[in-house]
Amino acid sequence: MKIINRRQFIYCSALILSTPVLSLAVGSSDDKKDDISGQDDIRGKIFKGDAPDKPSKWSHEGFLYTKLNDRKVVCGICPHRCVLSPGDRSACRSKANIDGILYSLSYGNPCSINIDPVEKKPLFHFKPQTKSFSLAAAGCNFRCLNCQNWEISQAKPGEVRQSELFPEDVVIAALKSGSESISCTYSEPISYFEYMIDIARLAKEKGLSTLWISNGYINKEPLIELCRYIDGANVNLKSFSDKIYKKLNGGRLEPVLNTFKILNDKGIHFEMTNLVVPGYVDDPEMVKRMCEWILNNLGPDHPLHFLRFFPQYKLDRLPPTPVSTLENFRSLAMKEGIRYAYVGNVPNHEGMNTFCHNCKKLLIERKGYLVPVYNLAGNRCKFCNTVIPGVWENRKIKT
Ligand code: SF4
Repeated sequence: MKIINRRQFIYCSALILSTPVLSLAVGSSDDKKDDISGQDDIRGKIFKGDAPDKPSKWSHEGFLYTKLNDRKVVCGICPHRCVLSPGDRSACRSKANIDGILYSLSYGNPCSINIDPVEKKPLFHFKPQTKSFSLAAAGCNFRCLNCQNWEISQAKPGEVRQSELFPEDVVIAALKSGSESISCTYSEPISYFEYMIDIARLAKEKGLSTLWISNGYINKEPLIELCRYIDGANVNLKSFSDKIYKKLNGGRLEPVLNTFKILNDKGIHFEMTNLVVPGYVDDPEMVKRMCEWILNNLGPDHPLHFLRFFPQYKLDRLPPTPVSTLENFRSLAMKEGIRYAYVGNVPNHEGMNTFCHNCKKLLIERKGYLVPVYNLAGNRCKFCNTVIPGVWENRKIKT
């Protein structure tokens, strides 16, 4: 494990600006060796007796937890509600009970730092063509069989190469990089909630946006607190079946739906991502039910991205999603009434472009992460003057 200090980080920051990706992930987790693909519920388990002996400088007391008898603690951040005896490590791998106190173990200790176009999140209706300072710390509260970042999400802090970057350092580095936003992304930010919320608080003070890229598996109380500071989110809606959530992701559907409702109530700009995994998440009837629920509970304005799956991690023998399936789902969603449905992970596909929901003319053309055509004037369609939902400048716009 290599730790870099602040000076080394500044050097790295300069490199970041000239290099598209600086990923600090190295090793691999033993988890890849455990074949859990045949199980009906792959929820992560607590790691008994696996806590560090004492807190480190990257340990931070948990944001929300309850102390029980015998120095046990229960974490209140996500629906797993891990009950940890002294010496235990959480299911998300990044929390531990050390002598009766719940600690987050990766505070100020990210394992991946990049500067990405905001479109990569994907966020298509949030300050297009701006840079987002993106980071992750190790850990995740899900166990998705298809995880594309499993080397860091299914790793414990310390199993991956990390840097030292406390929240104030993140904000300074983000400002220096010319980013408009900071994205907590790649692994699962819920597993480093304490770090994320402190970054978001400081970022807000400095006029930077914070973006939350997540599986949405979080309890109401921490989410409401988080909503005070974030400006946008992309939340995965991995399927519309509780059975598939258990089998494919190790979570449940209902808490994720509650997350969408809270984000909607709080007026946070969010977009939804559905990765279309062949054989798991490619049933048109399920997509239809999903769209109906979105329309009834969230309205037509939140962009919905159907992403192409590529074989990886424990599903490395599945074929990629046929492009025609993504096209059909996009058409289905738009026919149901979702105004902005997209195809993703298919370079330069027409389904990546934005068309005005009123006059249907091309508003934004996307080529990779570039935008050769941009036909919005402020928050309005240049052709018919319709307000387009999103955050196009520094304001949240609702139709
Ligand atoms: S955030 Fe981590 S420690 Fe807390 S309940 Fe969820 S999985 Fe357990």
